[in-house]
Amino acid sequence: MKAVLVGVGQAGGKVTTALAEFDAEMGFSAVRGALAVNTASTDLDPLPIDTCLIGQSRVNGHGVGGDNELGATVMDEDVVEVLDALSGRITAEAEAIIVVAGLGGGTGSGGSPVLVRELSRVYDVPVYALGVLPARNEGALYQVNAGRSLKTLIREADATLLLDNDAWRAADDSVEGGYESLNRKLAKRIGLLLAAGEATEGVGESVVDTSEVINTLGAGGIAAVGYASALASEDPAENITALLSTTRKAVTTGLSVPEATNADRALLIATGDIDRIPRKGVEKSRRWLEDETGSMEVRGGDFPLQSDRLAAIVLLGGIQRSGRVETFLERARQAAAETETEDRDRSDPAAAFDNEDLDGLL
Ligand code: GDP
Repeated sequence: MKAVLVGVGQAGGKVTTALAEFDAEMGFSAVRGALAVNTASTDLDPLPIDTCLIGQSRVNGHGVGGDNELGATVMDEDVVEVLDALSGRITAEAEAIIVVAGLGGGTGSGGSPVLVRELSRVYDVPVYALGVLPARNEGALYQVNAGRSLKTLIREADATLLLDNDAWRAADDSVEGGYESLNRKLAKRIGLLLAAGEATEGVGESVVDTSEVINTLGAGGIAAVGYASALASEDPAENITALLSTTRKAVTTGLSVPEATNADRALLIATGDIDRIPRKGVEKSRRWLEDETGSMEVRGGDFPLQSDRLAAIVLLGGIQRSGRVETFLERARQAAAETETEDRDRSDPAAAFDNEDLDGLL
């Protein structure tokens, strides 16, 4: 899937950079453009990708703090600048636009749903969100912000891929070092997913197509991605077992939203040396995924890549009824109930984040 990426806010810019770097290192060329948008100039300065500073008249380059309503307002006011910065990059080749943001902060949390809405109005290609949920130990404001942002993204985006910041964290990760390693992991998984439909080697019936990724993401729901790998063997029978166990691992311990296995749709992508990807293993793993997710719509295919490893990339679409998503939403609702809020102007774009709206989010 040839995609143009727009990172909004600090996390959005860093994750977008990691994705663009992974795509370039691998030589995939699935990432066709990468732009970072922020209200804080110090967050944009270190980024090696193109940048766009918004909200200067209101916050003078200093950011919006954790105020996601201000983040939404600023994006609404300055969205033309962002669209201008993007216009040369979203060519006829682009098959999707992905807006990337941390949902717990201010600029990304408030700005990303507004940007997704505007991009959907202007472009015919699907507009996806890639959102980062705050870890459990982040404060109430982060949870409330993320709950409201997620609610709005679900409504505006073609699909919202989520990373829970509690996923994939090694016990000894420091917070900052932890982000770097999390971002790299996320970039690898999303980068492989985007590149899978672009495979040129050994293209045949069993190779995954971009339309399968798009169909699995579906329309309007939440999605998660999982990954695991193992050394490939010379013995084909061993590779069948290896692929089945990596698929299990990708889902049981490798998902970007842990335990979100109640899914409407799923896609298994087996990647590795074309001669080592076992047909029977893909079919077995696909059937295991059907049982595990309770979905009748499970696709499977290959992504040939020169490697001595076999890996399973699993995309789950329509996970909004999964326990982990509901637990997060409950946490956000509780935090909202405990946080005093003032009346807000309902004509404001940020009205979508009103407290009552957090109830009945899905
Ligand atoms: P903004 O700049 O106002 O949009 O705020 P941030 O992007 O800093 O959003 C804060 C949220 O993003 C918090 O929940 C953080 O845990 C998370 N976050 C910040 N930086 C990173 C990062 O580099 N990677 C990841 N995965 N999460 C981040």
